[in-house]
Amino acid sequence: MNPVLRTDHLKVHHDTARGTLKAVDGIDLSIAEGETLGLVGESGCGKSTLARCIVGISRPTDGSIAIQGVSGGRGRAARLDRAQTVQMIFQDPSGALNPRLRVDRIIREPLDVNNVGDRSERRDKALKIAREVGLSDYHLDRMPHELSGGQRQRVSIARALALNPKLLVCDEAVSALDVSVQAQVLNLLVDLQKDLGLSYLFISHDLAVVRYVSHRIAVMYMGRIVEIGPAEDVWRGRLHPYTRALTASIPDEAARRDTGELLEGDVPSPVSPPSGCAFRTRCRFARQQCAAERPELRRVGTHEVACHFAETISD
Ligand code: SF4
Repeated sequence: MNPVLRTDHLKVHHDTARGTLKAVDGIDLSIAEGETLGLVGESGCGKSTLARCIVGISRPTDGSIAIQGVSGGRGRAARLDRAQTVQMIFQDPSGALNPRLRVDRIIREPLDVNNVGDRSERRDKALKIAREVGLSDYHLDRMPHELSGGQRQRVSIARALALNPKLLVCDEAVSALDVSVQAQVLNLLVDLQKDLGLSYLFISHDLAVVRYVSHRIAVMYMGRIVEIGPAEDVWRGRLHPYTRALTASIPDEAARRDTGELLEGDVPSPVSPPSGCAFRTRCRFARQQCAAERPELRRVGTHEVACHFAETISD
């Protein structure tokens, strides 16, 4: 069976006055039906650029994206196909919702725009989805500013579900919410996945949040995947020094594993990345080979990892 999403050697490069900025630099990913792939990395590592390519907001400069085995086309029919298969949920629900529309209109809008069913069918569908995401008739009659942050994110999720997509790309979808509300929205996403067979690309800078919802985790650094594998294996048996530093910076993990690997220094400029391994300027395990040769992803146990010395680095 075709995966719901597959990217092959996907690149997004931008020419700037200072050189070529490689925001996404050769990403190969796939997501199966009903699977959540967590994508984690610091701000500016290329996660959101990758997300925007997958949903069709941005165009890649090289490589390909196939949704359910079909590579993207142009025109209205192709856009509707893409919208019916993949939708995106953003970090800030306030900015993503039209402040002048009532909630029922917001949820219905994708159906109206794409002329799906007649008026009463669209209204019924909006009500059904609203209930699925935990909103009531009361909420449907409100304006976005009358709702809490968690309720607004539920509205965003409902709208994203209107066209029955197979894949939701969640870009920092709970980062702006209080911790208790985060848990409610994460649980909702997990329940919806079970009920509707959805697949998620779940993007966050927070590895603890990603671990909670993901079947597999991919770790991204400067436009490339540096580690990918089953979620618990990446969390507990993390191999790449960057993944180790990300987990060491999580408070309860740091207490258990004081490995002295807290992430230090800034991400280098993506216009002039270090030679060899892009992480070497922040890596306490770096050796001569790291400056000379770029490590490619290779299988080590259940993971794939891009580090020359993954096998010899241990707690
Ligand atoms: S290849 Fe070298 S610099 Fe890069 S992560 Fe591994 S040890 Fe560190």
